[in-house]
Amino acid sequence: MRLDRLLQKLTRQSNKQVLKWLEQGQVQLDGRPCLDGRAKTTEFSQIQLNGEAIYGKHGQYWLMNKDAGVLSATSDPQHPTVIEALKALQPDLDVSDIHIAGRLDRATTGLLILTNDGRWSKKLTRPEVKIPKRYLVTTQNPIAPEAETRFREGIYFAYEDITTSPAELTLINETQAWLTIYEGKYHQIKRMFGTFRNPVIGLHRTQIGQIHLEADLALGQARPLTSQEIEWLN
Ligand code: URA
Repeated sequence: MRLDRLLQKLTRQSNKQVLKWLEQGQVQLDGRPCLDGRAKTTEFSQIQLNGEAIYGKHGQYWLMNKDAGVLSATSDPQHPTVIEALKALQPDLDVSDIHIAGRLDRATTGLLILTNDGRWSKKLTRPEVKIPKRYLVTTQNPIAPEAETRFREGIYFAYEDITTSPAELTLINETQAWLTIYEGKYHQIKRMFGTFRNPVIGLHRTQIGQIHLEADLALGQARPLTSQEIEWLN
């Protein structure tokens, strides 16, 4: 919503009064005086009038190193969930409106993003935006020599009748590789290796776009995203 309309709604004052506040620099938007009533606001915009906070929800942006066995879900009768794990780490945090931006399978470990900012997470998960996601993959059998080319060309998934976007595979050894994919189809990596009848026995995500999981963040731990990591998507 436009800043001037929101101010009118919040204060129930006339358009004229709102204009006056704006012109006189009495309104701050995200920490800076804003004279432009047409400025766009979201529920996370921090608005102050004469130094008093009158609006703004606090955005929560968390990176978790998901442990194996933990479900990418809010609650589950059988398994522990990432939202419960975050609450256990941050007992004072209100997790009621926090959601997961890009799920991982239960056995998969690594980088998972949790946020209460739906607009922001949509930018991260929109299929048309090809954001790289990097995984360390461990397979049961030696990786086929032609896998690199086949993954680059795309793998056909008959169930959805789609071909995966070009993915980059870099071998580390016979049964381990780095794989970068640009989408997030259901069980995508397991199914890509499934075309070679090679079960994935370990999957660990280390990167989503410009967000990296650092090696010293232990499994099961979480940290807030930095402002650069948040703003990269804005
Ligand atoms: N691909 C998979 O198969 N599983 C994941 O958790 C992520 C990508």
